[in-house]
Amino acid sequence: MSTNERGRMLAECVSAATHLFLGAACPGCGRAGLGVCIACRAALEPAVHRVERPRWPQLPPVVAGGVYKPPLSHLVVAHKERGCWQLAWPLSGLVAAGVRVIAPGETPGIVLVPVPSGAQAVRQRGYDHCLALTQAAGRRLGVPVRRFVRRSRAAGDQADRDRAGRLAAQQDTMVADAVAGRARARIVLVDDIVTTGATCAEAVRALRAAGHEVAGIAVACETVVRGRTHRTSRFGDFSGVDG
Ligand SMILES: [Zn+2]
Repeated sequence: MSTNERGRMLAECVSAATHLFLGAACPGCGRAGLGVCIACRAALEPAVHRVERPRWPQLPPVVAGGVYKPPLSHLVVAHKERGCWQLAWPLSGLVAAGVRVIAPGETPGIVLVPVPSGAQAVRQRGYDHCLALTQAAGRRLGVPVRRFVRRSRAAGDQADRDRAGRLAAQQDTMVADAVAGRARARIVLVDDIVTTGATCAEAVRALRAAGHEVAGIAVACETVVRGRTHRTSRFGDFSGVDG
């Protein structure tokens, strides 16, 4: 038996024991084991692409590292809703790959800014998933993270609204810190999922109103419906997913 085979067997034994005694399972597929399984790790390999939508709000380039479908969708939800904070690092690889496309070779002049989560959601989850995702991407890229934009009031639940409803609900819900001094960095806005673009559009509006330049938006994944992206789909079909 080779060293690699022995190592793999040992890892499988540890995973099986962890499942047996601790109930551990892969957050992507539910398979018994410790952490993200080998099959689901493949879904974390960046498949970077530009996101385009019909009737897209006025936005700088939006780049996604993947598509919101299993097992990636399960990993994103586990990170956001089930407190699997350890997924921030692997998911941040999808964001970092998008930042490299938006600002190739420019990382010294780039600042990452997380889309702000609602204060109530952060309190309920006990975790700011988008901030954690952005900070992990910042560490990968060696670029700073600044919380320049924040919620000035709640936008309410997005899930049951169509695109027009989401845009209206997000309007004027965010404010950004004004540009300080003459040194102005280009901002890449970060979010975990983009659906209608309503949340990102409001963050971009607030940042621009405060004098910032937004180079682009990097998201871990974009939503799909019936196996296709928004390019050919209606907007109102994404219940259960913010943004
Ligand atoms: Zn898995």
